[in-house]
Amino acid sequence: MKFSELDLDEGVMQALEHMHYKECSPVQEKAIPPVLDGDDVIAVAQTGTGKTAAYLLPILSCLNRYRYPSDAINCVIMAPTRELAQQIDQQMQGFSYYVDASSVAVYGGGEGRDFAEQKNGLTRGADVVIATPGRLLSHINLGYVDLSQVAFFVLDEADRMLDMGFYDDIMAIAKLLPHDCQKILYSATMPPKTQKLAEAIMWHPTVVKIAVSKPAEKIHQQACICFEPQKVHMVIRVLKKFFGGKPDGFVKDELLRNPEKRVVVFVSKKLKVKEVLLSLRKKGFQVAAMHSDLDQKEREETINAFKAGRVNVLVATDIVSRGIDITGIQLVINYDMTHDPEDYVHRVGRTARADADGESVTFVSANDRREMRKFAQLEKFLEKRLERIEVPESLGGCNITSCENAPAPEGSQASSSQGTRKRRKGAPSRGRQRTHKPSQQGRQENHGRDSQQ
Ligand code: AMP
Repeated sequence: MKFSELDLDEGVMQALEHMHYKECSPVQEKAIPPVLDGDDVIAVAQTGTGKTAAYLLPILSCLNRYRYPSDAINCVIMAPTRELAQQIDQQMQGFSYYVDASSVAVYGGGEGRDFAEQKNGLTRGADVVIATPGRLLSHINLGYVDLSQVAFFVLDEADRMLDMGFYDDIMAIAKLLPHDCQKILYSATMPPKTQKLAEAIMWHPTVVKIAVSKPAEKIHQQACICFEPQKVHMVIRVLKKFFGGKPDGFVKDELLRNPEKRVVVFVSKKLKVKEVLLSLRKKGFQVAAMHSDLDQKEREETINAFKAGRVNVLVATDIVSRGIDITGIQLVINYDMTHDPEDYVHRVGRTARADADGESVTFVSANDRREMRKFAQLEKFLEKRLERIEVPESLGGCNITSCENAPAPEGSQASSSQGTRKRRKGAPSRGRQRTHKPSQQGRQENHGRDSQQ
């Protein structure tokens, strides 16, 4: 379906033309009409499906078309992380270029000056506030944020926000909204707590579901089953090969500094990030870390260095697996097995964006039967067997091939009975219909977004 077939505002259509957007993505086709109709909407869709445009375009259309108060906050968009909030704000700037709507992004981690700028945007009534829950509540608690005129409330990546413990914060913010405020909830999954939140705040929502897509076909997906102590050596081998060297030889400096080569190594815990980072740095890779303990400035510097090619390898927690649109990543390494297939799709989806090819290598701990079981579930979900990277004999090899012959989790009865298993070299010792009501006041002035940011 073409955007021109939807009832979008002229100003929004002009922006889409400039951005060369022609065809709607499936979530846009399904979710834009009910938002334009004033319905509450639940959309089950993940990052990369065009979900941001799916809610921004109809909201901006309404803001431009109908008369909302020019000095009040008309829309609040909640996002789990500052990175996603920034990204939404960037898209907002593109889509709203020809639209009379200002915006302010409100997230933590910046300097005192940023807080003052956010306060300024909030008190002057930016039309669209894009915020992380904690930071918005901090401003609300200082008493100058008026949400009584909000017409649109969007929860982006709701499941992730709830996983991060934001349920009470979101409910506290939702209580400050007028009862006829239109609610839009985007979530990659709908676990019970997301469902509970939807039921608590929404009114007869229209539900739009976009099936969990499998990773793009052009991603060359591989897996390596190895013992935990072998992992770092295997990652180094994979990286050496990726940078054009021999897996067990040296890689020339000029190859390692190739600004076109970008890899993300995902690890499960931030404590592990440093460990992996140091091992890779020792081998001469241009590495940086990305996790939630970094302050805003550090995160931005890291992302910029990575985008500019000064850093080739980003060792990151899941903070960058969703929502962050960095182009030109050719290889994704899952240092640890992902929690579920959807996380896998998000991580691997960082590569092979647009028309590029991509590669992924997922490491699975042979000495952890739970991980092996998760890996079996992943292959079932993907409906294919991932190509295996074997551990060479020089690293001790690995004879575990499936969860059936993997050791039981540590501490379980089964694991103690298997304590006599012969160890190999390199192996570890253990294994509703609503109308958009016009405001009395209307829009008297064109307050551009520049003054709000
Ligand atoms: P999102 O799922 O919102 O993170 O969007 C993923 C990427 O797709 C972003 O870079 C968008 O700019 C882009 N995008 C979204 N919708 C379209 C569309 N209809 N045509 C082309 N690109 C799109």
